[in-house]
Amino acid sequence: MQPPLHAPWRMDYIRSLSKPEGPCFLCEASNITTDADRKSRLVLWTTDHSIVLINRFPYTNGHLLVSPRAHKADLEELSEDESADLQRQTIEAIRLLKRALSPQGFNVGINLGRCAGAGVPGHLHQHIVPRWAGDTNFMTVIGEIRIVPQAMSQLYEELMRVRGV
Ligand SMILES: [Zn+2]
Repeated sequence: MQPPLHAPWRMDYIRSLSKPEGPCFLCEASNITTDADRKSRLVLWTTDHSIVLINRFPYTNGHLLVSPRAHKADLEELSEDESADLQRQTIEAIRLLKRALSPQGFNVGINLGRCAGAGVPGHLHQHIVPRWAGDTNFMTVIGEIRIVPQAMSQLYEELMRVRGV
C-alpha cells in the first residue's frame, strides 16, 4: 500500500479556488481555436464531445484531465455520446501516457462535488494519474516550488510528439 501522494504545489491551486468565480477553465480551454492557445493551455486534443489536457497542478508528471466539452457537473447529465467519448478519450490518454512515459500503473477517476475533492465542481473531469513504484517522492526535492512552466511545455511537446501530431 502506497502512502498518499504529496503535492505541495497544489496549495496554489486550492488557494486559487477561494478567489471569486472566474470563467471555467475547462470551458475556456474547450473553446480555443489556435495552436498557440492550445499550447498555452496545455490542450493535447479535442473531439466533438471531449477535451484532453495536461493538469497544470499535477499529482505526478503526466497527470492528464479528460473532460466533456459541455459544462456539466454530473455523469448522469451526459448524453450517451458524451459518456462514451469520455471513456474513449480516457483510453486514448492512457495509451499515450504508456507510450510516452512508461508508467507502471494509473489512478483514474472523477471527483464529483466539492466535498469529494472536485476543484471545479461545475465541470466534471476525469483524472488520469500515471504512477511509478516509489513515486510518492515525486519532486519533493523542490519542495514548495511548483512545476516550472518550462517543464510543462516540455511535457506538452513530448506528448504531442509521441502522439504523432
Ligand atoms: Zn465549464
